[in-house]
Parts: sequence; C-alpha cells; structure tokens
Amino acid sequence: MQRTPVLFVGHGSPMNAIENNPYTKTWQALGQALPRPKAILSVSAHWYTMSTLVSNVRENRTIYDMYGFPDALYRLSYPAKGAPETAARTAALLGGTAALSGDWGLDHGTWSVLTHLFPKADVPVFQLSVNRRLTMREHYALGQALRPLREEGVMIFASGNVVHNLSLVDWKNPNGFSWADAFDAYIRDAVLAREHEKVIDYLALGEPSRLSVPTMDHFAPLLYALGATQKEEKPWQTDLS
Ligand code: ZN
Repeated sequence: MQRTPVLFVGHGSPMNAIENNPYTKTWQALGQALPRPKAILSVSAHWYTMSTLVSNVRENRTIYDMYGFPDALYRLSYPAKGAPETAARTAALLGGTAALSGDWGLDHGTWSVLTHLFPKADVPVFQLSVNRRLTMREHYALGQALRPLREEGVMIFASGNVVHNLSLVDWKNPNGFSWADAFDAYIRDAVLAREHEKVIDYLALGEPSRLSVPTMDHFAPLLYALGATQKEEKPWQTDLS
C-alpha cells in the first residue's frame, strides 16, 4: 500500500505567500516533487479552538486572518474545493473527540504555503483545528489516529513553526537569539532521530522551550505530523542552503 507523505512546514510570515525567497522556492520545488494527493488535510496553527474541529465545507473561502499587511496579500485567493466526505471520515477516525464544522475555510497557515506547493489549487483541502485544551501527548495521539488517511490518498500537511514568539521579535537583530537556535536544533535533531518523546516532552529543554513556545498553537501541528508517521519511515528535511 502506497502512503502519502506527511509534511510539517514552518510557514513563517504571511508575506511568504507573495514573496519569492529561499523558503518559497523550496516549497515550489517540493510541490513539483510530491505525488499528487486526492485531498490535503491541513492542521493549521491559525485555527486555534476550544475543541477539535474538522472543516466539512464544500467550497472553501480564503480567510485573511492577519492584519496590517500590503493589499496584495488580501487579494490572493486560494480557491481549492473542500472535501466534506473525507472530513466526515476524518472525524470518525478521531472518534468522539472531534466534531464537524461548517464555519471555517482556509486560513493563512494553509494558503500562504499551499499557494506555492500546489499553485493551481486543484487538490481539495480541508482543515483540522488545534484544540487549545489538549496536551502535546493528546495532539500526538490524534496524529496517530490520522494514519489510515495516508493509505487513502490524503496528504497530511501540518503548518506552524517550531519557534514562534512574536512578542520577542527584534527586527534590528539579524542573527536571532541563541535560545531560538538551541530549541530549533533540539527539535530538529529529535525529529530526524524519531525521538518523538523528546518532542512531546519539549519543556525538558527549559528556558529555550518556554521562550520558543509561549503558546502551543504553532508548535502543536508538528505533533500531528509526527503521530501520523510509522516507525519504519525515515524523516527528511528540505535543504535551504
Ligand atoms: Zn502563523
């Protein structure tokens, strides 16, 4: 049985949607290399909710859930269809822990990256929310429950960031922060070594963890991506150099 790939993408700034930079070039190349799935399940940091929701709309609206950016960003639309039948299947796989929702479309965690990966928007896309009440272990368990979708042609696309703390961004510091580099390296190494317990127990790194993950919204999607993989699968990362 052929499995679809699982992706975790650090989506960064919404401006990536309309910029041409090393990230967007990497996403475009990746999109060309990926097999075309029947549908994409996007676990986006930007649908951060009080329960676990699966979007079952037939037509997706493009949601502009960011403020103060150039007009060009608000003119971009990503008109991928929804996948209501697959959404129902997904909610069933998650058992009684998930509900269907007709209130969402595609937020910028989804479209800012998919516009590069699948620019024609011709693959149906539906979203799974990040339930703010769950622990990292519970997010991971939901990712495990999604595994069968990969044998049914559904690509799991998790969109967040490993380090995400906008309140500490310093635009005048081109070198970033050592705590951010330390946390990023710790998580990257754990992912590549398939040491998922280290990712679930990310707070073990102490101060760098707390500064990098002040709220779980951007980090939790990674747990879905990891949970959806099987032991024998070898992780890989794209090279931005
Ligand atoms: Zn974001």
